Amino acid sequence: MNINTISQNADLRNSILSIISKENDRTVYDAFFRNTKIHEVDGDKIYILCESRLSKEILHDRFYDYLTQKIYEQTSSNYVPVFVTEEDLKGKKKFVEISTVEPTYFKNVSLDPNYTFDNFVVGPCNSEAQKAALYTATAPGGIYQTLFIYGDSGLGKTHLLTAIGNYIKKTLPEKKVLYFSSQDFLNEYLAFVNGDTKKEQLFKFLRKFDVLLIDDIQMLKDKRKTQEFFFNIYEDFRQNHKQICFTSDRLPGELEGIDQRILTRFTSGLSVSVTKPDTETCVNILKTKITASGSDLNTYDEDVLYFMADKFKESIRSLEGALIRLNFYASINKASHINLDLCTEALQSMIDCSDAKSKVTEQKILNAVSSYYSLSVPQITGKIKSGNIVNARHIAIYLIRDLLDLPLKKIGSLFGGRDHTTIMHSIEKVDKLLKSDDQTRIAVNELKKRLSS
Ligand code: ADP
Ligand code: MG
Repeated sequence: MNINTISQNADLRNSILSIISKENDRTVYDAFFRNTKIHEVDGDKIYILCESRLSKEILHDRFYDYLTQKIYEQTSSNYVPVFVTEEDLKGKKKFVEISTVEPTYFKNVSLDPNYTFDNFVVGPCNSEAQKAALYTATAPGGIYQTLFIYGDSGLGKTHLLTAIGNYIKKTLPEKKVLYFSSQDFLNEYLAFVNGDTKKEQLFKFLRKFDVLLIDDIQMLKDKRKTQEFFFNIYEDFRQNHKQICFTSDRLPGELEGIDQRILTRFTSGLSVSVTKPDTETCVNILKTKITASGSDLNTYDEDVLYFMADKFKESIRSLEGALIRLNFYASINKASHINLDLCTEALQSMIDCSDAKSKVTEQKILNAVSSYYSLSVPQITGKIKSGNIVNARHIAIYLIRDLLDLPLKKIGSLFGGRDHTTIMHSIEKVDKLLKSDDQTRIAVNELKKRLSS
C-alpha cells in the first residue's frame, strides 16, 4: 500500500492506534502512543512524530518491532518506523537513523538492559567511577578515549560498563556499541583464527563499532596472540578517536601477563576504581533493589537493612544474593513483615559461611606471604637476613599487625622471639615503603586480596 496524502496518514494513524489501544494497557498506551503522529511517509520510511525526546527513545527501544509489525498489518508493506521529535524537525538535528551491525561475531553477547545509571546507587565507594562512566557515555570518543574501571569482584564494574552502553544506545542511537567480556573475545578469536583471512574479517567487524565495552580484561593474561590482535584493534580505535572502556579486577600497573604496550595505553587513559561500599550505601542499594522489585519498603524493618548491609558489604553481589534469599524465605513462610529475627533465620547459613571464610589467622597470613614470595614459613619467621627474605618478613609482620592487631610482643614471639622494637621497626618500614615503592604496594594489596577471598 502506498501512502501519499495527509488524510491517508491520518487514517493510517487512527487505525494503528485503535489496535494498539486494544492490545496494550491503558497506562502504556497513554504514556507512549496516544500523542504520536505520523509526520511523513517517505519511501519505505514512516516518520513518527513523538511528544518528547524521552518518548522517542522509549518507542525506539521498546516498541520498534511491535510498531513495525502493526504498520505491516495495516499496510501489508514493510515500512520502517523512524522516530522524530519537533526538535529534529526544526532542522536542528538531522534525522537519526538507527543503524545496527549484523552480528557476524559475538552473536550470543548482548547488553543487559537492566543495568543502567538510573538504578546504580552512588556512594563514596563508586562516585568517581560513576561520574567517569556517565561522562564517557555522554561523550564517547571524547577526551577520555580509554576508560579503565577496576576493583574487586561484585562491586559494580559490569553494571557501570553496561550502563555506559545502554545510555549511549538510548541517547546517541547512531553510535554502534559492542559489549563483550575478554572471555567472549578469546572465544571469538580462537574460533575464527584458523584461517588468517577470517582474522581480518573479525578486525573489519570490530572496526564498524564506535564504542567497545570490554569486561574483565585480566582474562587475557598470557594470551599473547590474542593480545597482539587486540592491540591492533585498540590502536585503530585510538587513531580514529573512538571509545574503548575496560574493566579489570586490578589496576593497570598490577595486571600480570598483559603486553606492556597495552598496559602503557591503559595508564595513559582515565582509570577509576570501585571499592567496598560503606553501610549507608549498602542500605541505599537494598532500598533500590526492594523498590525495583515492586515490593513495599515498609515491609522491612529498618534494622534488617542495616544488619544485612553490615554483614554483606564485602560484595554487592552477595548483598543482592542475601536479599533474594531473605525474600524467598519470607515468601515460603508467608511472612508479611520482615523483622530482624526472620532475617537472621533466613540468612543464618550465609552469614556463618562468610564469617568462617573471612577469618584470617596468623598462620594464614604466614602461608600467604610464603607462597607469594616462594619461600617457606620457617624462612620467613627465622633469622636469615638476605634481602628477599627480610622483605617478606617485614610484610608478614606488617600484615599480622594490620589485619589482626596483635600486640607487638605477641608478633615478636611468632618471629623467633624478636623484641617489640624490632617488630615496630618492620611495621614502620613497610608503612614508609607503601608510600614510595610500587612493588610493596602491589604485594600488600595482592596479599590482602588473597586473604580476604
Ligand atoms: P563486578 O562486575 O564488579 O563483579 P557487577 O557489576 O556484576 O560486579 O555487580 C554485582 C551486582 O551488584 C549486580 O547485580 C549489580 O547490579 C549490583 N550492583 C553493584 N553495584 C551497584 C550499585 N552501586 N547500585 C546498584 N546495584 C549495584
Ligand atoms: Mg563483572
